Amino acid sequence: MIVQDKEFGEVIVRKNPLSNGIKFSISTSGRLQMSVPKHASDFLVKRFLDRNRAIIREKLPLNDPATQRARDAKKKILMKKAREYLPYRLEYHAKLYGYKYEKCRLTHANTRWGSCSSNRTISLNIGLMNIPEKLRDYVIIHELAHLNHMDHSEAFWAEVGSHDPHYKDHNRRLKHYSPGV
Ligand SMILES: [Zn+2]
Repeated sequence: MIVQDKEFGEVIVRKNPLSNGIKFSISTSGRLQMSVPKHASDFLVKRFLDRNRAIIREKLPLNDPATQRARDAKKKILMKKAREYLPYRLEYHAKLYGYKYEKCRLTHANTRWGSCSSNRTISLNIGLMNIPEKLRDYVIIHELAHLNHMDHSEAFWAEVGSHDPHYKDHNRRLKHYSPGV
């Protein structure tokens, strides 16, 4: 649920059945995020926000609403670019090397470039659109190789290396970039 606040802009409210108090944090987009008990009413949430303004202002590095909107717009453009490119690039490499995956999902997590789940869904971060093509392809090959090896064993790396001989260099260079949008 999103609550509009005159000072903090959009506030993300998450109802957490396990929580028995209200907790504040910052979302990946720089918004204020509140975790509240499942039955907390809107009224209670707003009152709590009002009573804690000073603490929030002081403790949390929030983006101002204009920065949030700019970031959202950027993310939207990147998502569109990613949608028109990444699923096809994945398909291209899968065909080239003979992999069969079930689904391609696009994500915008802050911590990972991609993942491969046991139901053969490959997730790719839209932030891949911001890095050099060779590194992007390395991530795709890395995730495809996880279809055969759900670990980072020697066999896994040997398979990655058979498709991307420079994978070590690519893996190292990838660390200079962050997937966060
Ligand atoms: Zn991996």
